[in-house]
Amino acid sequence: MRPPVGSLVVRDIGLLVTNRPELGQGQLGVMRDVDVVIENGTVAWIGSTGTSQATDEVLEAAGRCVVPGFVDSHTHLVFAGDRVEEFTARMAGRRYDAGGIFATVAATRSASLIELTDVATRLKREAEAQGTTTLETKSGYGLTVSDESRCLEVAEAISEEVTFLGAHVVAPEFRGKEQEYVALVTGPMLDACAPKARWCDVFCERGAFGLDAAREILHAGLAHGLGLRVHANQLSRGPGVQLAVEMGAASADHCTHLDAADVDALAGSDTVATLLPGAEFCTRSPYPDARRLLEAGVSVALATDCNPGTSYTTSMPFVIALAVREMNMTPDEALFAATAGGARALRRDDIGALAPGFRGDLVVLDAPTAAHLAYRPGVDLVAAVVRAGRLLGQQNSR
Ligand SMILES: [Zn+2]
Repeated sequence: MRPPVGSLVVRDIGLLVTNRPELGQGQLGVMRDVDVVIENGTVAWIGSTGTSQATDEVLEAAGRCVVPGFVDSHTHLVFAGDRVEEFTARMAGRRYDAGGIFATVAATRSASLIELTDVATRLKREAEAQGTTTLETKSGYGLTVSDESRCLEVAEAISEEVTFLGAHVVAPEFRGKEQEYVALVTGPMLDACAPKARWCDVFCERGAFGLDAAREILHAGLAHGLGLRVHANQLSRGPGVQLAVEMGAASADHCTHLDAADVDALAGSDTVATLLPGAEFCTRSPYPDARRLLEAGVSVALATDCNPGTSYTTSMPFVIALAVREMNMTPDEALFAATAGGARALRRDDIGALAPGFRGDLVVLDAPTAAHLAYRPGVDLVAAVVRAGRLLGQQNSR
């Protein structure tokens, strides 16, 4: 058993984003000049600077801004190899068409468990150093029963939010035999993988899985006790978003090509629209219309989609900057989507905000306000990262 975490005070926070409007100003519930006390991993107290009780440890915020830890609700960290040549070719004008996944599938199948674990662990640490305190990650580059199962073992070792994505694309040996592959996914593959996962996902897209196959896979996931997520409407307008809503999925991810009926369906549902602008950046594609979703009342999350083919970044601050600059989100909306939005996309009520009872996950920014995340793109503003009351990040000097 791990020893008790003890208590930590984060002292002299100039500006604290709580994401709880009842605690402070605006949607972000901003408080000024406060201390936060975390006990046994959970936020226990927030109050005026200098009035907290003594704690085991002290972290000086020195007047800087503190935000909730980022919740990256969509990553693909279990893979081998890279696809820098594909990226370079695409930047020279070639269009992306989902085929490059097979290069990663081949590399992942031939990698050892240790190699896969090393890559995933390195990427997780990279994400943490940039303020991510919760990340979801998936299988999806194995596409056989044993390879998917192995990828989920790696995912389980680095993440509390594990997603089975055997239905990423039809495995190459099943080309032209989609129904046989769907039978494998919904049968032996789910039997082997469901005990290692919390979520079942499907890539519903031309070139991947059509409406009927995707629905069958999601029903099978539900029957195995998994929650649902859908890769939807990334490359083209399609049925993915409406299927996600119909099936009660926690999240429809990408949402790049939507019509009015898709937006209405999301607005009347508990399904979060998770936007992944790193994918549009890395494929030089048009960005999702975040304003249309927000104005319709849809819950929006932002995530990295970290994967070697179409979005090889672990940086939530980069995603926030993209969302502000390229998708017309305000800095407050983008930060909320990258924290509370991600928590909602994972159906979690213990993360994504800083208030008594929430897990003690926070980021000390080397900046006076959170808007600096977008205002100073590409600059490392993460001074310290705390997860469940433990200090993770390096402490930058001011
Ligand atoms: Zn994805």
